[in-house]
Amino acid sequence: PDTLDSIRRTIRDVPDFPKPGILFKDITPVLANPALLAQTIDGMIEATGITKVDKVVGIDARGFIFGALIAARLGAGFIPVRKKGKLPWQTRGVDYALEYGTNSVEMHLDAITPGETVLLADDLLATGGTAAAALHLIGQAGGRVLGSTFFIELAFLGGREKVSGPGPVHSLITY
Ligand code: IMP
Repeated sequence: PDTLDSIRRTIRDVPDFPKPGILFKDITPVLANPALLAQTIDGMIEATGITKVDKVVGIDARGFIFGALIAARLGAGFIPVRKKGKLPWQTRGVDYALEYGTNSVEMHLDAITPGETVLLADDLLATGGTAAAALHLIGQAGGRVLGSTFFIELAFLGGREKVSGPGPVHSLITY
């Protein structure tokens, strides 16, 4: 509660970034604070109730930070889901709709072995399109999704519905 309050107060609201009308949640001040960073990672893990998982999948780019720290803490491997064209080896990709236009993310073909357990991690759940695309790739690879964990959830955008199919959805801070 006290901790969550400190974390909440440390998240910085940046108006009109990256476009006019968007209030961007800047999490870099939380990352920069040693105590709050540790509490954030612990909180994102505790929210899931998971103590053991084979792979943690993190989404480009801030999901890499949270996902890799969570993976190290759980003794799991880390798998990056990246924007199209960034991964060097053979990939599987998926396109998904944005408010205007489409986006595309990819995962390496050998990243997940069928039957492995997987936790999805990202910094922020907004409309859920990005996380749903990552979950689609994990499903195609034969991964067993134990759940998804987000640092921040913008609940008023309703993304939770889009990502709650394969496993429970957890978030540390909700707006
Ligand atoms: P969605 O696909 O609409 O759920 O958008 C989620 C993705 O957009 C995540 O990967 C976030 O990193 C990014 N994102 C959207 N809004 C914000 C924000 O206010 N702060 C940080 N990241 C954001």
